[in-house]
Amino acid sequence: MSDPREAVADVLRGLADTLRHHRDLGVSEIALARDPFPDPADALRAQEQALQGCPRCKLSRSRSTVVFGSGNPRARLMVIGEGPGEEEDKQGKPFVGRAGQLLTRMLASVGFDRERDCYIANVVKCRPDRNRNPEPDEVAACNPFLMAQIDTIQPPVILALGNFAVQTLLGTKEGISKLRGRTYMYRTGVLVPTFHPAFLLRNPGQEFKRMAWDDLKLARREYEQLTSTTTPHPDPLP
Ligand code: URA
Repeated sequence: MSDPREAVADVLRGLADTLRHHRDLGVSEIALARDPFPDPADALRAQEQALQGCPRCKLSRSRSTVVFGSGNPRARLMVIGEGPGEEEDKQGKPFVGRAGQLLTRMLASVGFDRERDCYIANVVKCRPDRNRNPEPDEVAACNPFLMAQIDTIQPPVILALGNFAVQTLLGTKEGISKLRGRTYMYRTGVLVPTFHPAFLLRNPGQEFKRMAWDDLKLARREYEQLTSTTTPHPDPLP
């Protein structure tokens, strides 16, 4: 069957036949074994739980805490960085050091409150020692958890911070200076690349700040446009 509409109609006809058959047998209720639309907060909690004590890569040997992510599970903006630093490793929360404080101000500059409007996570959930770049096997081991976070939150907009996060998410070796300044289709929405706040702290000139500001405004515009047409996660039943 080549026409997808015919295939869907066929499946629905089969389902209707089955339901009619059950009704004729006197069945008036069908209990679902699992909630088909789990609350994102519950789903994230289960994912975080599954990562506790994670031994999947060598970062587990040097970390103190698995830094899963933080913010609003119903956020429509997801922010993705590289990996926890020293302060994050101590506190178990992403972006709480100096770069994190700058990130909070960057988000606020375009009207995003980090706790209310954003969910923040990293490509890897454990600190690479001496803040080195995560290695490919470490990224690969953590990838299913990042993808599960993205697929749970289904953010219309992802703000990806820095070379490492952007290259990992987009699967490219192109540098951030080339990649930034535009959006990319990514899973359920768009990805907006920008400089990592740690890079902006190391390069305090106006030039990079101005480009980051343009990227943030772009993320805000995309957010306004996409959240006016997408339905947010439904509230859980009381
Ligand atoms: N840098 C990151 O990429 N992530 C953090 O959580 C902190 C610093």
